[in-house]
Amino acid sequence: MGARVASAQNAFEHSGLGMQGLMQGKRGLIMGVANDHSIAWGIARTLAAHGATLGFTYQGEALGKRVRPLAQSLGADLLMTCDVEDIASVDKVFATIGEKWGGLDFLVHAVAFSDKAELKGRYADTTRANFVRTMLISCFSFTEAAKRAAALMTNGGAMVTLTYNGGTRAMPNYNAMGLAKAALEASVRYLAVDFGSQNIRINAISAGPIRTLAGAGISDARFMFAYQQRHSPLRRGVTLDELGGAALYLLSDLSTGVTGEIHFVDSGYNAIAMPQPDTLRVSVAGNNGNGNGEENAKDAAQ
Ligand code: NAD
Repeated sequence: MGARVASAQNAFEHSGLGMQGLMQGKRGLIMGVANDHSIAWGIARTLAAHGATLGFTYQGEALGKRVRPLAQSLGADLLMTCDVEDIASVDKVFATIGEKWGGLDFLVHAVAFSDKAELKGRYADTTRANFVRTMLISCFSFTEAAKRAAALMTNGGAMVTLTYNGGTRAMPNYNAMGLAKAALEASVRYLAVDFGSQNIRINAISAGPIRTLAGAGISDARFMFAYQQRHSPLRRGVTLDELGGAALYLLSDLSTGVTGEIHFVDSGYNAIAMPQPDTLRVSVAGNNGNGNGEENAKDAAQ
């Protein structure tokens, strides 16, 4: 039995799927690190631990100051400024990768923005200007980056973007960002078809709430965070390392048969429609008349 396990392990390692070298020899671009709480950072450090060579973009010098030491700590040899609203800066990033690396194996897109003033209240009150800007930065920037990245992926490749369940279901205060995530998820499927014949895979990770700069922009985010933590099947939130692990799977040869997929890493929250009856009972009793249920207080306190 022990010998059989050892020989399976041997076969696994010889197949190139051994854990240590999963990303060995692969070069990739990480877009969307703002600081060490960023989801893109959790992904980057996991990929680097598995042998990837990384390049980073940052949005403007203020963030550059934070991203530079992080990138250096992973031995990154490419660090470029990029504002996705400025297409010339996007072009420059991929031209630089072409010059310095001559090719690309993977792309991580973890970029999103919507006006904080509209990440509260009714979706119906979204302004035209914020809708267009939210869509451009949070959705279409992935298509623009993917097209340029694919041109450099002459030996095939993989891309991952980040989405949220608010693109599938209505979430309080998520508003225009929810529509951008719905369109982003659709673009994952269309891009998977466009680039599939070049052996380039396109997938998304739908992350459970994580305390980041972008996450903090959503009104009452901490209550939503606590609620999701409390009521998900695993009864907890997710970690940057867990998101890194999922990205490692989707960007490595472990997932060569997977494309066009929206992969949830949210402690299973997307699988439930309602909290457990005991919680509902407390909630209904506590909400009797005054709207300040004991359960609400518990949710908020987490
Ligand atoms: P974050 O604030 O750390 O990262 C967001 C990044 O978007 C920042 O690096 C910011 O510089 C970048 N960005 C915004 N506008 C840009 C522009 N015009 N040009 C270039 N870059 C720009 O927050 P995060 O939570 O790590 O967000 C990463 C991704 O994960 C986003 O797509 C977000 O919607 C998604 N996501 C976050 C959560 C969460 O709970 N935090 C959950 C699910 C999905």
